[in-house]
Amino acid sequence: MSTLDSDLDAVARPVRNDGLELTQARNARVGDMTVRRLLPLRLRRSVGAWCFVDHYGPMSVDGVTGMAVPPHPHIGLQTVTWLLSGNVLHRDSLGSEQMIRSGQLNLMTAGRGIAHAEESPAEHDPELHGVQLWVALPDAARHTEPAFEHHAELPFVRAGGFDITVLLGALAGGLASAHSPATTFSDIIGAELRARWDVRASIPLAPPFEHVMFVADGTALAADTELRPGSLLYLAPGREDVLIAAAAGSRIMLLGGVPLGEPLLMWWNFVARTPEEIAAADADWREGRFGDVGAYDGEPLAAPPLDATRLIRRT
Ligand code: MN
Repeated sequence: MSTLDSDLDAVARPVRNDGLELTQARNARVGDMTVRRLLPLRLRRSVGAWCFVDHYGPMSVDGVTGMAVPPHPHIGLQTVTWLLSGNVLHRDSLGSEQMIRSGQLNLMTAGRGIAHAEESPAEHDPELHGVQLWVALPDAARHTEPAFEHHAELPFVRAGGFDITVLLGALAGGLASAHSPATTFSDIIGAELRARWDVRASIPLAPPFEHVMFVADGTALAADTELRPGSLLYLAPGREDVLIAAAAGSRIMLLGGVPLGEPLLMWWNFVARTPEEIAAADADWREGRFGDVGAYDGEPLAAPPLDATRLIRRT
């Protein structure tokens, strides 16, 4: 996953009077896969610390390679891998090797630098469906040591007909007791809501947070706005709840956090603050200083030519 092919052609509409904004994904290529890229947007590079949102599938990977993302580097972010179906194998330069399945969380903290690869294992499930998310590290934490964690069990609450799994942080209001054990560096929420039947319910939100919601599977109405896969609804800070109506079995992702308040500079797989840091990371990758990912069968990803005019700046 990378930001290189994000030409940011999806222009965010102005925020409506009610603090809502609906945008559509653009298609991006990740290896052989076409993904829905929901963030970053030209006018909205991050939501809380969330700075990258890809949604892919469901797709048949029966008898084909499936996911094949060769070794590539990251700095300054955490990657969040969440599957709705299928299985993916993660390997990184710390020596981690971890299969992930639906309902589990892979969280990789790049900090000052890590390399990883993600692929469908040789013997894989016939369907693949998931989201790949990045969380920007705040300035005080972005040079931390790299780390990888796998959470096979996550906190789970039932509310208003939804089964809610908390990936990162905690929900708000009466649902705040369920805290994810995953390591975070900012005030954040990442959760999946699954409708147990045709549901209409109010979900509490933290007023200091801004949020985005998208449907990963099914259809939903959120704050009277229709959501289908590929739509992203932004909710400005100040809300205490959101009313969601969803068809049985629909799965909705809710991401949010305190607005980051820091300028980000994004290039390829790097999240930094200055062009000099991007150039240093680029040189480190070209010269092999991120370390070996190990048993991946194939060549590492080559960094694209560094083009200072295409750095994605969030001010
Ligand atoms: Mn990656």
